[in-house]
Amino acid sequence: MSSEPQVKTAKQAGLGQCLKCHKLNVITHKDQRCSCCQAKISLRKYRSLEYTLAWTIAAIIAFFPANLYPIMIFTSLGSPEASTILSGIETFIKLGMYPVALVVFIASFIVPLGKMLGLLILIITVKTGSKVDPKHRTQLYHLVEFLGPWSMLDVFVVALMAAVVNLGFITSIEAGPGISYFALMVIFTMFAAESFDPRLLWDNLNNDD
Ligand SMILES: [Zn+2]
Repeated sequence: MSSEPQVKTAKQAGLGQCLKCHKLNVITHKDQRCSCCQAKISLRKYRSLEYTLAWTIAAIIAFFPANLYPIMIFTSLGSPEASTILSGIETFIKLGMYPVALVVFIASFIVPLGKMLGLLILIITVKTGSKVDPKHRTQLYHLVEFLGPWSMLDVFVVALMAAVVNLGFITSIEAGPGISYFALMVIFTMFAAESFDPRLLWDNLNNDD
């Protein structure tokens, strides 16, 4: 027996929210349209899991060129030197720019990997009908959503460095092709989080026996 309180969901009460204008409609038939804006009503985001999975896979694929291609091209002492995210971090450490190295490491590695892992966990738990408390899984979803735009910090760091560092030992610094893949990866994970319908986490509960 489930110990969860018996709360009726809108779906069980025969109600559906319009995804376009958010009006709550009484559902009487399958191809119902919103009484307010005439949009087709879907009780859950259309193909939420498929879209989330597709965007997450796209993000994982973009993660590799983002790390393998140079993200910055330094010119120090007249010779241009391409740098990937990892070798860039190494350079910042060598130059004693520890806070920048830390920001780049967190923004380029920890945050994107954490987001992709979080999304995969959410997809798998919905697919397998996991009984892990939906509250915790919803918190995971909020975290993934919250982290979304923050890894763009890395792109800004490169832009900022390009503006600031021109003064010192590095005579110039430019963005390399890796940064485009990096931006794509961030955008894909944001789309993945956006496609995910967190109500699916709670739908499992109602199928409990
Ligand atoms: Zn509507």
